[in-house]
Amino acid sequence: MVIILDNSASEQQVEDVVKHLEDYGFQVHKSVGVERTILGAIGVQPDFDVRKVKILNGVSDVYRVTVPFKLASRSFKEDNTVVKIKDVEIGKDKITLMAGPCSIESEEQIFKLAEVVSKSGSQILRGGAFKPRSSPYSFQGLGEEGLKYIRQAADEFNLLVITEVMEIKYIDLIYKYTDIFQIGARNMQNFPLLKELGKTDKPIMLKRGLSAQIEEWLMSAEYILSEGNKDVLLCERGIRTFEKYTRNTFDLSAVPVVHKKSHLPVIADPSHATGLRDQVPPMARAAVAAGADGLMIEIHHDPEHAFSDGPQALLPNDYINLVQELKMIAKAIGRDI
Ligand code: PEP
Ligand code: MN
Repeated sequence: MVIILDNSASEQQVEDVVKHLEDYGFQVHKSVGVERTILGAIGVQPDFDVRKVKILNGVSDVYRVTVPFKLASRSFKEDNTVVKIKDVEIGKDKITLMAGPCSIESEEQIFKLAEVVSKSGSQILRGGAFKPRSSPYSFQGLGEEGLKYIRQAADEFNLLVITEVMEIKYIDLIYKYTDIFQIGARNMQNFPLLKELGKTDKPIMLKRGLSAQIEEWLMSAEYILSEGNKDVLLCERGIRTFEKYTRNTFDLSAVPVVHKKSHLPVIADPSHATGLRDQVPPMARAAVAAGADGLMIEIHHDPEHAFSDGPQALLPNDYINLVQELKMIAKAIGRDI
């Protein structure tokens, strides 16, 4: 249920409404906007008579949210969420670029690629230290050693770090090294992991599950938000369909759909979405044109020998050139890179 308070509601009236809602058994979240305050009342009470709240002093309007996600919904928070990390703001006019290798392979490799990421004008260095591989016999990541390398490389080139966390037991360790936690597609519905990350104070990028509907994806974001962490980024990385010529089907229509349904920033990952290098630049351009707030792209200086996802990695110069093209597209739609 979403409760819109009168512009003129006093603080006391707001507190009284909150108290009533809590007495009725709801968990209440407050969103204080420039013009008005909105309350989100969470709790499944199908028989609850909303008139009990409508008549309270200071209440302007009450309506049930028909979608099951509440804190993630546009009706709860009208303004776009901007996730601020140091001097990077994700979700504003400037499109944020995240790039780096699929896996951190060595100190030398990540430093080399961090230099490329910095040279391109991107803000965030990506790289996995704990890898969700389809086969248990494939490279699983360097673990803490990799985290140390990516942190040092990012600091050297004034970049932020994003890296994946796969298990609750590694949250504290990864917290020490990263700026943003990535939740991989395979863990999108790992609810215990989402809840634990929701208790941390670092931003979280939630990738869309391999065959998740947008509503399920937003429900997963809701798990994080409902634990108190408001800095959630959603990442479209392609979904599984019957198509065989691409690794996944890049659902770019998810970008405007999520923007309409939610206030959370949307990042697009054309690398995992297509799985093949030659398809990455066209889909990256399309993602910017579709209104993505950021892109995540895999790069490698020697993709033939990459430990994972080599076929989808762009070569350094191709990435640098792509960013130049993206700048023009961003400009054409009133944004900036
Ligand atoms: C990754 O970013 O390297 C990754 C494994 O992505 P996804 O979870 O989208 O497959
Ligand atoms: Mn990858």
